[in-house]
Amino acid sequence: MARDVTPPPEVVCTSLGKTFEDGTDAVRSIDLTFAAAETTALVGPSGCGKSTLLRMIAGLEHPSAGRIEIAGAPPADTLRQAGLSMAFQDPSLLPWRSVRRNIELALGLARCQADPSDIDQLITLVGLEGFGDTRPAELSGGMRQRAAIARALSTRPGLLLLDEPFGAVDELTRSQLATDLPRLWEARGTTTILVTHSVSEAVLLSDRVVVLSPRPAQIVDDIRIDIPRPRPEGTARRPEAVALSNRVFSSLARGMVTHPTLAAQ
Ligand code: ADP
Repeated sequence: MARDVTPPPEVVCTSLGKTFEDGTDAVRSIDLTFAAAETTALVGPSGCGKSTLLRMIAGLEHPSAGRIEIAGAPPADTLRQAGLSMAFQDPSLLPWRSVRRNIELALGLARCQADPSDIDQLITLVGLEGFGDTRPAELSGGMRQRAAIARALSTRPGLLLLDEPFGAVDELTRSQLATDLPRLWEARGTTTILVTHSVSEAVLLSDRVVVLSPRPAQIVDDIRIDIPRPRPEGTARRPEAVALSNRVFSSLARGMVTHPTLAAQ
């Protein structure tokens, strides 16, 4: 963590598509630019192709059409230069290493110096104070997810990709994380792309919400979230946040009607 912060990149998806080998059409003709240092939430019905889109940006899936550029380079370059971090629903922590040692491993792989006080700070930030020396098997699912978030943030990535990172986290901690984490990535100026099924979380965390249709994912709406930051607890209940959530819900419903082709399969 002694390393300089990687500058947040712009991510450009051009005519992006993905059809899997078995013929599953998951993503179609996505033209989308994620601005540097902005947080964008991708929302859409379950199975619509959100994770596939995120995995392509991560360089873990190859597009079958179009291309992705991260600061002008292909995703594999960003991955190689350790400028990209991910926290997915399945935390994939090494079970025999403590939370702290899992974070240290990520730092080592990214060739970052491990500063113990920074690691402690991150562990505290995600609410795992006192669990730094605990192994993942001894933690609840929600705690493991929080450890994975701490690990993803530890390398100070320019691009942070989060796929339902709070899925198994209890409601109270979720709302605490939703308040605390954006402060961290705002302070660092990270480009963050978040997949979530929670509309209120999307509105609370993001500068922009992109609503996707049922599979194959296409853009139904692109909504700017102009609620000033920081957004303290209770923001989700404010009238402007509720109005924006309602717009996201109606766009989701519109997507079901205007792109029904594969929804019933
Ligand atoms: P979401 O994240 O929106 O729930 P996914 O991107 O995970 O959706 O999946 C989109 C569709 O692609 C689903 O129908 C899923 O079953 C399918 N899919 C995902 N990965 C593969 C794969 N490797 N091979 C074939 N189909 C896949």
